[in-house]
Amino acid sequence: MKRSDLLPFALLLPLVGFVAVQATQSPRITAVTQAATLASDARSAARSVAAGSVEEHAPAPKLVEHAASAAPAEAPRDIGEIRRRLELGANGTYIGEILAERDSALARWTDRVDQPIRVWVGSGAGLPGWKDEFPEHVRAAFEEWSSLGIPVRFVFVPDSASADVHVSWIDHFDTPISGKTLWARDRNWWIVNGNITLALHHNGGEPLDDSAVKAIALHEVGHLLGLDHTADTANIMTARVRVRDLSEADRATMKLLYTLPPGSVK
Ligand SMILES: [Zn+2]
Repeated sequence: MKRSDLLPFALLLPLVGFVAVQATQSPRITAVTQAATLASDARSAARSVAAGSVEEHAPAPKLVEHAASAAPAEAPRDIGEIRRRLELGANGTYIGEILAERDSALARWTDRVDQPIRVWVGSGAGLPGWKDEFPEHVRAAFEEWSSLGIPVRFVFVPDSASADVHVSWIDHFDTPISGKTLWARDRNWWIVNGNITLALHHNGGEPLDDSAVKAIALHEVGHLLGLDHTADTANIMTARVRVRDLSEADRATMKLLYTLPPGSVK
């Protein structure tokens, strides 16, 4: 374990910061933190711009040693074939932007149809602004992505200790974001677990309503499944979320990602 291997890098977008922390304390697991803010109206957009909208680095994530053993044996990668499939499927997607942000690497979960990803959705009961229907919005967001036909299913479990993915709630972030996702991958770029944190209030104090919670949940689950940001604000995966539903490009990009093996396409 060499701490000198810690390699932070940051990519600042015009309106909001995107931060990824690559930690190689374990040679097998890398964790990535992604966060988004919600553009609910022009006023909040103006405030975010004025505030400069950058995110702080996430603390070094807790790394899970055993997770790498869950990855399947890797078949030899035919990089030419992968690139050909990318080229054929890229039209109408923002896969190119994801590759640019990730140094030409894709990350995704293994096929999880027979063994669904176990998701624990926590409660924010007791936090100001909490609504009992919020967890249902989160579960719906998972189901909406899963229903696209990708080889991933989710099961919602009451026991956090056995979950692959944890969703928890916070009153607000100290930076102008409304949600944050951290996932960990193994050395073959298979995502192995993740944590999503959702806010009940904007950084400035305004409460997030039901549609905003749903939109941010869709965005963060998109990250959890391996998507990254796109500049096109018609998509749910733009850094400052303006829409409330998945776009055709969101759907097409997710579907393409899950036809490709993870890892570098360079
Ligand atoms: Zn994001």
